[in-house]
Amino acid sequence: MKPTKFIFVTGGVVSSIGKGITASSIGALLEARGLKIGMQKLDPYINVDPGTMNPYQHGEVYVTEDGAETDLDLGHYERFTTAKISKKSNYTTGKIYESVINKERKGEYLGGTVQVIPHITNEIKSVILDAMEGIDIGIVEIGGTVGDIESLPFLEAIRQLQNDLGRENVLFVHVTLVPYIKSAGELKTKPTQHSVKELRAIGIQPDIIVCRTDRDLPDEVKRKISLFCNVEKSCVITAKDVDTIYEVPLNLNKEGLDEKIIEKLNIWTGAPNLDKWEFIVSRIKNPMYEVNIYVVGKYVELIESYKSINEALIHGGIANNCKVNINYVEAEKITPETVDDFLKNAEGILVPGGFGERGINGKIEAIKYARENKIPFLGICLGMQLSVIEFARNVAGLEDANSTEFSKRTKHPVIYLMEQWIDEEGNIQYRTEESALGGTMRLGAYKCILNEDSNTYKAYKKKEIYERHRHRYEFNNDYREVLQNAGLKIVGVSPDDQLVEIIELDDHPWFVGCQFHPEFKSRPMEPHPLFKDFVKAAKG
Ligand code: GLN
Repeated sequence: MKPTKFIFVTGGVVSSIGKGITASSIGALLEARGLKIGMQKLDPYINVDPGTMNPYQHGEVYVTEDGAETDLDLGHYERFTTAKISKKSNYTTGKIYESVINKERKGEYLGGTVQVIPHITNEIKSVILDAMEGIDIGIVEIGGTVGDIESLPFLEAIRQLQNDLGRENVLFVHVTLVPYIKSAGELKTKPTQHSVKELRAIGIQPDIIVCRTDRDLPDEVKRKISLFCNVEKSCVITAKDVDTIYEVPLNLNKEGLDEKIIEKLNIWTGAPNLDKWEFIVSRIKNPMYEVNIYVVGKYVELIESYKSINEALIHGGIANNCKVNINYVEAEKITPETVDDFLKNAEGILVPGGFGERGINGKIEAIKYARENKIPFLGICLGMQLSVIEFARNVAGLEDANSTEFSKRTKHPVIYLMEQWIDEEGNIQYRTEESALGGTMRLGAYKCILNEDSNTYKAYKKKEIYERHRHRYEFNNDYREVLQNAGLKIVGVSPDDQLVEIIELDDHPWFVGCQFHPEFKSRPMEPHPLFKDFVKAAKG
């Protein structure tokens, strides 16, 4: 078997310059050339995973099929490529140290002094190699910005890997910002020069520099970067701002990025087939219809918190030849008096997942509005739980119905903490209100059986589905009968019928609440069935 080759993607100057999209696009382009790729993200922060982090800190927590709570870039990897993403695809400093410290406690270092070099760096190297077994090209993105103290062990580890594996097997791609300074009328290369200097000081010479900019880099700017940063001019790549992220692979290909990569890594492939990328970009740019979707959430100031939902709605639009205007509404602002003002233009209403009490009443009000006005509705996780609560209170007459997440003393805990359940492997899992917060939720893909008489079945066109979960609370089976008698339809359950996964309403054109997160499985090329049909229903 040929050895795996590696591409390490680092970022310079500032964060949020699209390192994740660049890494994903490289993956997409190499896949389009027929190579088997792997994707991994290494994050320098100390949390063991981002699961306990507030979305304002870190954007959405993305959940993998095998139940890892990961960085949102992993979502881009799955949307852009078919790389197998799992628990091995995201490591943080915290997780690396956790494992080294566990080994130390077991005495595995045989009395040695445990140090950053070599113990931490060896651990990092081993998780990289382990994740990329059997892969042609492993693409590894290093989180953070070069120059941060936190990322040093990761950078040192990848520097060593180039030495270990040989130069023809390891490529460094550095993503930087080339800002346009209006008053000078000039693109500035200095920040790029400085950040490459930082990289070189720790022994990494980038092979390719991807420059994020708002305009094409003129030849002389490329020449300057080439000269000062010691890379070939043809390896200075323009990554211009785009209307849709799905255009990035096409643009990077036009700039010759994938051609350079295979040349530098000394591999032979045919030209990439980018037809499907061209198709989705043209669909996004020239839609026939338009639809207004309102997302009523809690983290609306930071769109990154709803990254996958945003993308899944766009995918739903692609499937329906339709531009989806996504309007975010701050749930806290919605009251019985203001709901109509906020939502009167909504052709579809979506209530996403969330934790904690803030904004709950506004969300319930929005759900009531969708139910009464027969506006297509998609409730995800907390959104599903709240639609059960809304229905229990306002239709089934269970006045004080609530989730025990918000009221421990409610008379009607229609959503509650199930203390015992059976996971996908058939093991009994336990949890109580006192359980630690990290990693104790129902996480990852679970099987669900659909009732054929439902809009959900019409969407999926199959009886058995697997969807990803991330929540603590569940539908309380004691209330199945009363709620069903009042017109709530339970249309998706776990194979043992213990867990209610999907509800719908009688007497409503399209009202779906699901306990899982369908947004994590939507792809531009394969829009998720629920998002596809939600947008279709909204389009009318
Ligand atoms: N807070 C709810 C729970 O833990 C919903 C979680 C979510 O929406 N992801 O069950």
